[in-house]
Amino acid sequence: METLDALEEPARCSFCDREESRVRKLVSGPGVRICDQCVDLAGKIVDEYRGEPAPPRFPGWETLTDEQMLDRIPRISAVVDQVEAELRLWVRELRRRGVTWARIGAALGTTRQSAWERFSGEE
Ligand SMILES: [Zn+2]
Repeated sequence: METLDALEEPARCSFCDREESRVRKLVSGPGVRICDQCVDLAGKIVDEYRGEPAPPRFPGWETLTDEQMLDRIPRISAVVDQVEAELRLWVRELRRRGVTWARIGAALGTTRQSAWERFSGEE
């Protein structure tokens, strides 16, 4: 996705943090990316839990040390920033099209005022 590729960091899977050069395929969505291996894993998880309650924990946590988890959280935080930046682009385009803050707020499950405060860039 053009807006993500413009970022300085190399493209990475939002789920496993592998760089694009280390995976066969990286699929981009709005603000996030997923690699072929994570798609396969997600498919297995969905198959395993289809019709059953959702797993209470991320399946990979059991294999990670505290240090490994601490190493990952900055990347997860960076993904949050990427998604927020992508969301801002979508809202900016909606505003350019003349869509009201009330409709944008409703779509996000919030008020017109909250949407405006979050995205307008005005005080
Ligand atoms: Zn991945």
